[in-house]
Amino acid sequence: MLALVDERMDSERAPIVRAFVREYMRRVEGEAHGQDAEALFNETLGVFELAAARDGAPVAVRAFNPVPAEHGYAARGTVLETNTEDLPFLVDSVSAELEARGVGIVRIVHPIIGTERDDRGRIVAVRHPREASAIESVMHFELDRALGPEELAALEDATRRVIEDPRHPYTKALLEAIPHPDPERRLVGSVLEGEIPSPIAPPSGCRFRTRCPVAIDRCAVEEPEMTVFGTGHTAACHVARAELEASV
Ligand code: SF4
Repeated sequence: MLALVDERMDSERAPIVRAFVREYMRRVEGEAHGQDAEALFNETLGVFELAAARDGAPVAVRAFNPVPAEHGYAARGTVLETNTEDLPFLVDSVSAELEARGVGIVRIVHPIIGTERDDRGRIVAVRHPREASAIESVMHFELDRALGPEELAALEDATRRVIEDPRHPYTKALLEAIPHPDPERRLVGSVLEGEIPSPIAPPSGCRFRTRCPVAIDRCAVEEPEMTVFGTGHTAACHVARAELEASV
């Protein structure tokens, strides 16, 4: 992979892309064996280009059906990719949106990357998140079917709204439910260390529990039921529900 970067990139971009590829590959390490290096390189480069083109916008989103002649790789269905500053429960919020649309997820790659951008928003360096001035989330979802043009556009709009709008039901309800003076900050730090649940073999109980910073024993054995909160938000969360019940 890194050899392909040096072969294909000019000397100015090669070090940046190489660092991005390293962070991306740390997330696909287990599955990379036997995978076509050329296809993986093209997938990784596509995600990098999306992040690089974000320029100062709060979020970059694209949904498309990969075509080998155009994208350099194929997938079973639609690919949805995003880039934004890292925020709590991004994967979970977008997963919930996909689930609500009846679309299954067959693969997720979600590296957290440290970046330096210049005053025009261009990425000039990619580092380990602990060593960078900005921490960004990159998400690559592969879906179980190819969506049509209208569905692709609607999915892009909905994903942008979910990421831009901190009132997304799941995130908001959970954040509101957790008694902490600065819950958002606490969750961000915790989410960075969490293990992303496999969409193919989700964990028992609540599917978010492997990366949820406030999970309790019950979360491992019982799937939470959807609850409507006073604000009209809905969320399936044992902790949020317990807080709600304690408050009435
Ligand atoms: S049910 Fe448990 S694991 Fe799931 S989001 Fe709520 S606290 Fe976290």
